[in-house]
Amino acid sequence: MDRSSSDRPVVRLLPRQHRRVRDGHPWVYSNEIEMSVEARAIEPGRLVIVQNAGGEPVGTATFNPHSLVVARLLGHGAILDVDAAFLAGRLRRALALRERLFGEPYYRLVHAEADGLPGLIVDRFGDVVTCQTNTAGMERLLPDLLDALDRVLAPRAIVLRNDSSVRALERLDSYVRIAKGELSGPVEIRENGVRLFADPIGGQKTGWFYDQRDNRACVAGLCRGASVLDLYAYAGGFAVQAAVAGAAKAVALDRSEAALALAAEAARLNGVEARVETRRANAFEELERLGQAGERFDMVVADPPAFVKSRKDLQPGLRGYRKLARLAAAVVAPGGFLFAASCSHNVPVEAFAEQVRHGLTDAGRGGRILRGAGAAPDHPVHPFLPESAYLKSQLLQLD
Ligand code: SAH
Repeated sequence: MDRSSSDRPVVRLLPRQHRRVRDGHPWVYSNEIEMSVEARAIEPGRLVIVQNAGGEPVGTATFNPHSLVVARLLGHGAILDVDAAFLAGRLRRALALRERLFGEPYYRLVHAEADGLPGLIVDRFGDVVTCQTNTAGMERLLPDLLDALDRVLAPRAIVLRNDSSVRALERLDSYVRIAKGELSGPVEIRENGVRLFADPIGGQKTGWFYDQRDNRACVAGLCRGASVLDLYAYAGGFAVQAAVAGAAKAVALDRSEAALALAAEAARLNGVEARVETRRANAFEELERLGQAGERFDMVVADPPAFVKSRKDLQPGLRGYRKLARLAAAVVAPGGFLFAASCSHNVPVEAFAEQVRHGLTDAGRGGRILRGAGAAPDHPVHPFLPESAYLKSQLLQLD
């Protein structure tokens, strides 16, 4: 194995390519490194020592010769024993931050590079966790990682949600597997004082979208007595919290029956089922219908899946955000609110704001932006990877 530093392959940066890494950037790109025959032959995911062109060690990294990001740094220098104890140390640091941020064990525990664990996502639902290993390096460390999770959290169940499309970039296969314990269905969580259901095995992504926690609280705070339309509702994060906050009626709309079943169950659990309606529909079609029927809502939430999954989808995706903003704005009552979000990595904040603005103009609506916000703080951002702050949103009041 290559857990200890003595038997690790060495890769060498090209002249003058060490500065970014030296300054703290966690990635090395394939055109910055000497792609020698030896380097190409390194098994994907192995730990390597990265040297500068002069032969001095600059860091320890996981390596994948097939990826555009060939090396992802775990630390500086050639120092690390990368084993369960090392990973447990990183997990403890991530846990200490979350325990300071939140009073209850429901959060994203590890957000990849920003938590010193490149390529790894861990979401916590009390004593159940889901992990996603998005790089060959993390996949290779999985046995040690499971051991480390046991040492730090001793969870009842660990679900590997390794069915994300980004794994293909590292030539990893797609699978969902229970790595520890038993789990047959959704688990109850709490967010902003409201009881909800996440589905670690069959749900979207890792089972719950903790990134919207603060935005849900903010939206719910405006919903007393309001009629609410939660488009792309998934398990009802926005709709159920709005109902608990006193909304007169909240419609949770999604195209997935399974997602709406979670929302309905959460509404019952909180005793607000009389004020939460689940509606299975295509968001665009239903918005057209509602608009024509003259239905209006005091709050409309539009938090769709990523419309831009890769750079080639940028133009059609941007048009999608514009159209969604237009159709959603059209069903907002005068003086009501629109919360619009985008989780597309490839759409910058300004580009999203521009599409929302165009959408309002197309709908003939004016108003004001009350708040622009990203993901909650259990999704920290590495200072050298500002582009990893994928979530952007605007809360507007419309005239
Ligand atoms: N707003 C949610 C997260 C949305 S995830 C939350 O706060 O947790 C995206 C959701 O959109 C998924 O549940 C998916 O089933 C749904 N979806 C995707 N395309 C859709 C469409 N065309 N119409 C309605 N729902 C759609």
